[in-house]
Amino acid sequence: MKNLWSDREARSFVRRYAKERVNRDRALRVYTSRLLGGEPALVLHGGGNTSVKTTMKDVMGQNIEVLCVKGSGWDMAAIEPEGLPAVRLGPLREMVKLKRLSDEDMVNAQRVNLLDSTAPNPSVETLLHAFLPHKFIDHTHANAVLSLTDQKDGEALCRRLFGKKMGYVPYIIPGLDLSRKTLQVYEADPSVQGLILLKHGIFTFGDTAKQAYSRMIGMVTLAELRLKKGRKKVFTAAKLPQKTTAVADIAPVLRGLTRYGGKRLIFDFRGGAKVLNFVNGKDIRRYACQGTATPDHVIRTKQKPLITPAPETGGLNAFRKGTARALDRYVKDYQAYFKRNNRRQKIKRTELDPMPRVIMVPGLGLFGLGADAKAARITADLAETNIEVITAAECLGAYKVISEADTFDIEYWSLEQAKLGKGSEKPLARHVSVVTGGCSGIGAATARALAAEGSEVAVLDQDEKAALAVAAEFGGLGLACDVTDSRAVRRAFDQVVKKYGGVDIVVSNAGAAWPGTIGEVPDKVLRDSFELNFFAHQSVAQNAVRVMVAQGTGGCLLFNTSKQAVNPSKDFGPYGLPKAATMALMRQYALDYGHLGIKSNAVNADRIRSGLLTDDMVKARARARGLSQSDYMSGNLLGREVTAEDVAKVFVDLARSTKTTAAIVTVDGGNIAAALR
Ligand code: ZN
Repeated sequence: MKNLWSDREARSFVRRYAKERVNRDRALRVYTSRLLGGEPALVLHGGGNTSVKTTMKDVMGQNIEVLCVKGSGWDMAAIEPEGLPAVRLGPLREMVKLKRLSDEDMVNAQRVNLLDSTAPNPSVETLLHAFLPHKFIDHTHANAVLSLTDQKDGEALCRRLFGKKMGYVPYIIPGLDLSRKTLQVYEADPSVQGLILLKHGIFTFGDTAKQAYSRMIGMVTLAELRLKKGRKKVFTAAKLPQKTTAVADIAPVLRGLTRYGGKRLIFDFRGGAKVLNFVNGKDIRRYACQGTATPDHVIRTKQKPLITPAPETGGLNAFRKGTARALDRYVKDYQAYFKRNNRRQKIKRTELDPMPRVIMVPGLGLFGLGADAKAARITADLAETNIEVITAAECLGAYKVISEADTFDIEYWSLEQAKLGKGSEKPLARHVSVVTGGCSGIGAATARALAAEGSEVAVLDQDEKAALAVAAEFGGLGLACDVTDSRAVRRAFDQVVKKYGGVDIVVSNAGAAWPGTIGEVPDKVLRDSFELNFFAHQSVAQNAVRVMVAQGTGGCLLFNTSKQAVNPSKDFGPYGLPKAATMALMRQYALDYGHLGIKSNAVNADRIRSGLLTDDMVKARARARGLSQSDYMSGNLLGREVTAEDVAKVFVDLARSTKTTAAIVTVDGGNIAAALR
């Protein structure tokens, strides 16, 4: 592993932070924490932690000895000084005398000694950092070190490799006991440069930021070189079908099956040679189900993945049945694991949902699952890291991690349990929405409104750059799609499914207006309008129900039909006719798919400033009626101008409603001629 320390960079950190009255120690702590955090083979997504012992002034202007240690919720790759909260060092060190300390009391004692009462909770490994005497301490969950220690004879392997340069600490869950044991190991030989925490990770320390960091890189490099030696080939491939089904066909089936208590999950797919080599192995059930490479991954990934049968092209039904059976076993095993381990707890734990968070599909790859796209991505990242660690471990010997009881203690940690039930989810959380014409006024407003309600949102538009820009506002997916090309629509839906695992809500919004007197209009104009204003809705809806039926979790179709469907304008037939057909289409979907829980509704909007009604058109129409522009726009029963946001709100309301289908809701401020009768 490359040592990225640069004197010049270090000086620039010191200079930059001096302006914010951050001292040299803390500035350098930020610098090397970022170096560590930026390397995924060392830490991932908030894993690992660092500290520095320094002095800071309290409110009385007195110099106080403090430990600045990584705060929970901060990622080292992007850490700032406020992500390293300062805790009074004296009181922390006093705690070494305690015989026992609950996690809750530990967190409280750390919080009451913060210099800034608004700072985040200091890391759960704070006491360990405080008890050791060194100025700079770095802690990572380096893949290479884990591949060595996560072995049957991991300790002996590490001792042979690192010798007396490192101390060796047996596995203990983070807290007072681990901190005291670590100090004991260090004191037995204070010449060590760091400590290997067996089945957990590595600490290095030093008088300077550079020394602690360089020792980390040095030790990890040693481990990497060791892993390269005498590597045996691993994972004999199992017999798999010649051709497997596409991710886009498999994911909705899995997403439907993993629903629990009415809640669905968002998926994140990973393929690639390393993943396939792992999931295609004959012995996958042995090496993939041992547990996670470092204990805290279990909170996101669970101890074991679900392993499905290999899907065969055309055999989707067999895949569904086989997976349902495997999942049933998985759930029963998980519940038994909970029962078994909860029995020995003094304070009984609350059982978490038994659904897997990692699904491995031989022949295809893996899925990370989470309550939202970000959680799913993190889970998939951790799963890939575990594959990396396990593969290297198996090349050397046999992968072996902490016991089931120790795993349970992390998964059901009292501090994690305390978070349960807190923080309410948004109404459309765990849902995936697709909006076509996603960059028009109404489309973009609807995409934003769905995202604000917690949904993952894919923005489809002819203009790829515009789609990406709208999606970037809320971290969604932007895709180029000409909805009149049915193959392009299929491709776009496949991409959405590959990204999120399925589809729940579809707003078929793309459209355009063609004027023309019906007796004279060229055939081509009418047909072009039918392509976009009718057939495109049909191909979008067809793809949507295909995915929804595979999921078996119902769904929601929404069409933008415009008032033309009900109240045609003179010389506007080419626009009104297909819109009227689309209104009938909406009802047909409601009728044909209602028994599967798929709702189908339409919004009938009028006089909205958007791509269809440009400012120039507003001007011309207002002039023709002898009205001012604003009088023209608010020329409705309520006398209020209707905006794209008003339309978006109704789309969201319909998406949230559970008992409305085959309905047309007007959003026009009241136009009695467009009222349904
Ligand atoms: Zn750790």
